[in-house]
Amino acid sequence: MKTIDKVYINGEFVTPKGTEYFDLINPTTNQKSGQVRLGNTEDAIDAIEAATEAFKSFSLSTKEERITYLQNLKSSIEKRKQEFIDVMIEEYGGTLLFATVSFDYMLKSFDSAIELLNTYSFTKTMGVSEVQMAPIGVVGIIIPWNSSNGFICGKLSTAIAAGCTVVIKPSEMSAQQTQLITECFHEAGLPKGVFNIVNGLGNVVGAEISNNNNISKISFTGSTPVGKMIAKQAVDTLKRVTLELGGKSPNIILDDADLSKAIPMALGAAFMNNGQACIAGTRLLIPENKLEEIKKLILDIAPNFIVGDPKNKNTAVGPLVSQKQYERVQNYIQSGIDEGASILVGGLGKPEGLENGNFVKPTIFTNVNNHMKIAREEIFGPVLSIITYKTEEEAVAIANDTTYGLQAYISSADEERAHKIASQINVGRVQINTISHDPLAPFGGFKQSGIGREFGVIGLEAYLEPRVLITQ
Ligand code: NAD
Repeated sequence: MKTIDKVYINGEFVTPKGTEYFDLINPTTNQKSGQVRLGNTEDAIDAIEAATEAFKSFSLSTKEERITYLQNLKSSIEKRKQEFIDVMIEEYGGTLLFATVSFDYMLKSFDSAIELLNTYSFTKTMGVSEVQMAPIGVVGIIIPWNSSNGFICGKLSTAIAAGCTVVIKPSEMSAQQTQLITECFHEAGLPKGVFNIVNGLGNVVGAEISNNNNISKISFTGSTPVGKMIAKQAVDTLKRVTLELGGKSPNIILDDADLSKAIPMALGAAFMNNGQACIAGTRLLIPENKLEEIKKLILDIAPNFIVGDPKNKNTAVGPLVSQKQYERVQNYIQSGIDEGASILVGGLGKPEGLENGNFVKPTIFTNVNNHMKIAREEIFGPVLSIITYKTEEEAVAIANDTTYGLQAYISSADEERAHKIASQINVGRVQINTISHDPLAPFGGFKQSGIGREFGVIGLEAYLEPRVLITQ
């Protein structure tokens, strides 16, 4: 049993003033694996004060100094790769493959931030003026559990590149992952107060960060309802907000697609991270006349999506993060049945032999229309809805008929045709014949999938404010 009883403020591990504990539960066994002592409002305020003080000098640091800090942060985590992978698997049931890929992206965040610093000019000329791109101030980083350290690395690396200081509030469910990355970052030797990490509840520590006058910007990743709450909390002090929220991503299979590649990829997109990914391709849009062929292919390959212990290298789908999430997903499967969709694969209940953990049978529905709850709401579990279309125009209309707009997928043998369709879909990113991530390109959503972008130059500029100097 692990007890995590420190928060990280002003360069030190300190005992939080908050005295409550939160139980950490292993989702594979539903056994308690540890506990975390939660910070409270006072701890959040202490962290914000430390970051505010540190900003005075860190905002004046040179590009070269910040590149060195980024290199040190990267090397601090690189050496503990296996521990990161193990803790991701244990804490939220991420599969070995997903945890390994996530770890690589943690490292790439630092490489991309360094690359940006090497090319970005913080001083520009516009009209007759000099425009200085100044660090925005202290940034509050609030993140979910589903790729906790990936989000910490993506946001922290950009903040450091910009010359900002940060207060990070991870999910209380990710406390072990947070502890590991904090230990690494502590070793990296950044000036005191540049980064502070406070475990705590959203409505306590998160609320203080989004209300506090000394925070200039919130970078949030999480659900759309909480994103809206944070935007409301932040408005009184007119904080800048970057919101990376939920999704209901369409995956359009065009009639010329190589189905032997497109369908396995579609199941991969739907079931990645056990279906707990904002970018999961949860609506599979297929030509009506290919339905029978695709159903057959799915029945052939679905058994390859082995559900089980996430430590096992053959496992494709592990448990859901919590009992609560398991029940939520079961309710969605029930709603699909009640609304008249047909189950092609999976269904209600736990797979045989996996009754102890939060395991869901990867479930694929046919006979779905885009108005059903399973096609409209973010389920955050391994549930895929197949929707048929007759024409390309109809496919685009269905793809866009959602309140979300984070990502879309297209499979086609004709790149030009795929690009033409991509340009009509209101999403932040379209994946054509691939599932990939480019940390030098902006990432974020249209509509209720968020506000603003992360990564690349656009992501960096979200941590900067232009200051114009006009000289006579
Ligand atoms: P969540 O929205 O419940 O929680 C996210 C974070 O917000 C947690 O740290 C939580 O403690 C905090 N929080 C809760 N209430 C708060 C408040 N009143 N004030 C400030 N902070 C508060 O999300 P979750 O269940 O942890 O994660 C799953 C969600 O995250 C899904 O909806 C998923 O789509 C989304 N997500 C989005 C992206 C993206 O990049 N767009 C990536 C991953 C996950």
